Parts: sequence; structure tokens; C-alpha cells
Amino acid sequence: MSEKYDILIVDDNPQNLKVLGAILIEAGYGIHIAQSGEQALKAAETMRPDLILLDIMMPGMDGYEVCRRLKADALTEHVPVIFLTAKIEEEDVVQGLELGAVDYVTKPFNAAILLARVKTHVRLGVHQRLLFEQSNIDALTLLPNRRRFDSVLAAAWRKALHGELPLALVLLDVDYFDSFKDVLGSSEGDDLIRWLAALLDEAVLVSPHFLAHYGGKEFAILLADTGLQAAVEFAETLRLSVLDAEVAHPASPLGAYVTISLGVASLQAQAALDASDLVKAADQQLILAKQHGRNRVYPSP
Ligand SMILES: [Mg+2]
Repeated sequence: MSEKYDILIVDDNPQNLKVLGAILIEAGYGIHIAQSGEQALKAAETMRPDLILLDIMMPGMDGYEVCRRLKADALTEHVPVIFLTAKIEEEDVVQGLELGAVDYVTKPFNAAILLARVKTHVRLGVHQRLLFEQSNIDALTLLPNRRRFDSVLAAAWRKALHGELPLALVLLDVDYFDSFKDVLGSSEGDDLIRWLAALLDEAVLVSPHFLAHYGGKEFAILLADTGLQAAVEFAETLRLSVLDAEVAHPASPLGAYVTISLGVASLQAQAALDASDLVKAADQQLILAKQHGRNRVYPSP
């Protein structure tokens, strides 16, 4: 294989791990192992394997539950899952496939069949990921687009419903962007949006939040487990970073440089509300930031 693909093997039986690992290593795959459902979820989220081989019968969290959680998490929903099952009852296999697994192999393993299925699904998975990325990445900034943002927000909201921690959202846009383009041209406008995308991308690397290009001159940053005060402070650091960069704006009534306005909202997810309520609340704050003079975070700390 010219490119090395990583496979996560999940089985509570060390002997199975050994046999599977040997077959896959021999075929040129990179191998990671987990011996429980909990370990599997953690490994899947951090290493993003190209494929997961998942035992169904495990003590504690079984393979069905692991699959359900993998598919409910935006970080892992697209990783193909093949079930390892000792049971050949059709009913069980159907249940597994309905949870989003792509295939299954029965124990004891036939190396040739196993490798054929692994190869097929790694290849399909790579194609699917490419398609997925093309429809979820904004071509101008190479950031996740609004469509991707909506699905990440929905997943984060579902997760937050079960917890105590709030979700926060920062919506921001460039002040007087139309005048900027009117004077410098739309190509310079594109450059400015790309520049801002890179600046924001670096800022979210430091504090791991989800950044998306919301469209046009607007960006969204979702902050999990974050209350209003912390979100406002984060937003303020973004505002200052843009200001401190001193990017020339030839037509801003606010001064010589490019500035941004930011709306911040934080909500405790609850059944009576919807994820879109968080967006509406942040959007309302962004409008207020504009109305109160721009180049500010609203509500101001
Ligand atoms: Mg087992």
C-alpha cells in the first residue's frame, strides 16, 4: 500500500486482538487496539482511524452502544465501522447495520474475507470523506461551512442536553466590509476574509472550539462547556487581535484599520429550546454590537 491506513480494533478478548492485529499488520495497515467500549470511544476521537473493527459482545458498554455513540459524535460519525460477531443470527446483524455499521465479519476469522472487506470499506470511506469534505468545507477559507456548522451545533446541543454545562456561541463579522470591497475590489475582499479565517483558526487552536465560515463576512465559533463570561472574554481577545494586526481599511468611519463586531450568547441546552435559539441569541447580540458603534463585543464585559 502506498498510503498507510489506520485501523482501530476493539475486542475484549486479547487473543482476538492478537490474531486480527497480525493479519492486518501483515497486510500493511497501522493498528491501534482498545479492549473496552470506553477505550474505543476515546481512541476513535483522538486518532480518527480510517476504519474500526468492533466486537459486539463486550462486558460493560457493548459494540452496539459504542457504534451508536460513534455515529452521534460529529468527530467520529464518518468513520466506517465493521462489526465482529460470533453470532450469525440475521436479526443481530440487522440491528448492527441499522446503527450505521457498514458490514460485519463473523468469528472465527477468515483472513481473506476479512482483508477483502477491510480493503473495500477503507477505500469507500476515503472516497466518502472526500465527498463529505467537499460539501462541508468552504472553498474560500477552507474552513467548515455553514452546513457543517449546523450539524456540529445540533450534535453539541444533543450532547449538552444530558449535561449541566452550557454552550456558547460567538458570531462575528467584519465592520464596513462592503466599503472595503467598494474601494479595494472584491479580490482584496476575499484576501481579507482568508486572512481573518487564518487568524481565527489560530485562535481556536489555542482554545479548542469549533470555527466555521458562516458565509460572506461572517464567522461562527461554538464553545462547548462555556459560560457567558468566558465566551465574552474569548471574543474580546479576538477583537483585539484583529485591531492589533493593523490591517488597513481605507474606508472605515472607525479609523484606519479593519475591525470586527462580535455577538456572544450562552445557553443551557434544554428540551424546551432548540439549537437555533442559541444562533438567534448570538445574532441578536451581533446586531446590537453593530448598532452600538461596531468594533465591540456585545454584551460588553
Ligand atoms: Mg467479546
